[in-house]
Amino acid sequence: MQGFRVPRDIFFGEGALEYLKSLKGKRGILVTGGSSMKRCGFLEQAAEYLQEAGMETTTFEGVEPNPSVETVNRGARVMRDFSPDWVVAVGGGSAIDAAKAMWIFYEYPDLTFENILSPDSIPPLRQKSKFAAVPSTSGTASEVTAFSVITDTETHIKYPIVSYEMTPDVAILDPLVPAKMPPHVTAHTGMDALTHAVEAYVSTAASAYTDSVAVKAIKLVFDYIYAAYTNGHDIDARENMHNASTLAGMAFTNASLGCVHSMAHNLGGQFGTPHGLANAVLLPYLIEYNYSASSKFKEIEKELGINSLADSVRELNNKLNIPFNLKECEGIKEDTFKKVLSEMSKNAFNDPCTLTNPRKIGAEDIAKLYEVAYAGGSVVF
Ligand code: FE
Repeated sequence: MQGFRVPRDIFFGEGALEYLKSLKGKRGILVTGGSSMKRCGFLEQAAEYLQEAGMETTTFEGVEPNPSVETVNRGARVMRDFSPDWVVAVGGGSAIDAAKAMWIFYEYPDLTFENILSPDSIPPLRQKSKFAAVPSTSGTASEVTAFSVITDTETHIKYPIVSYEMTPDVAILDPLVPAKMPPHVTAHTGMDALTHAVEAYVSTAASAYTDSVAVKAIKLVFDYIYAAYTNGHDIDARENMHNASTLAGMAFTNASLGCVHSMAHNLGGQFGTPHGLANAVLLPYLIEYNYSASSKFKEIEKELGINSLADSVRELNNKLNIPFNLKECEGIKEDTFKKVLSEMSKNAFNDPCTLTNPRKIGAEDIAKLYEVAYAGGSVVF
């Protein structure tokens, strides 16, 4: 038996943020990242809408990129003191991911981080609070997924927490919110969305339900990412990218992902490489590696009217100023890369995303793929 689980309510289009006025509750906590949502006025706007809904509000600010166990614990303590009936995450994937994990420890203060690492081990949430998410980037799709990635800052290991309990109740996709994203963030997060859609489409757990949203997401990214990158004020492009990201999220939260993500998670953990950038660089190499194992790559090529998906992704990367190989990505030094290669490959092999990669893969092939992607070249094994 398979399923297709997404938030009950998804609101989209310009002005969708106003939906916050319709939430019912006494207290709402806003969780956000750095200062951008505040600077752009969206944080205050969100708080005003919640207040119009009759809620008392408070804010937890400062969730860092790659949110840590410590931040999650701190936020959960604030929630336990404030007792919100709504957790409203406003920000990028990191803020939403962190808010989801805070929500778990708010509802269940006795749980520890170790308790929730095995899939679907979280007890029923919504005993204290519901969860709304307002994404400020168009990529992670945390607003519709059952995932949260939290980093152990001591071991550098990224823990993907997986549970449909964590799927938000409400996703609010207002294209004005991501409209202030700088171009490189638009490029990286947009390529993350494309990677989600492609990996979900060729995943061994794909279904008719996930395929339909994945293929639409792939088309939207190919059609609109460049416009959103070159002209951030193009609200039509922003809206299409925002919807593409969420559609891709609906696909991968149900079909899971593949080895691009397994490998990107570890590059992020070891070198701090932005998630979308790592995915964008790795994607063409993994398409080449997986190509013979799934006829669905040809289906994508047919849908897009292109000859080679790998080459088209490379062309897109080039237009977005994304490097061709890992060597050119900032911060990945060759000596360190060689030193951690075998450990990264083993960790990537053990990443849950590897399970649904269309071609069966071992740690040795992952190491070879890392090496080819580092130097650039073709995948001929
Ligand atoms: Fe991703």
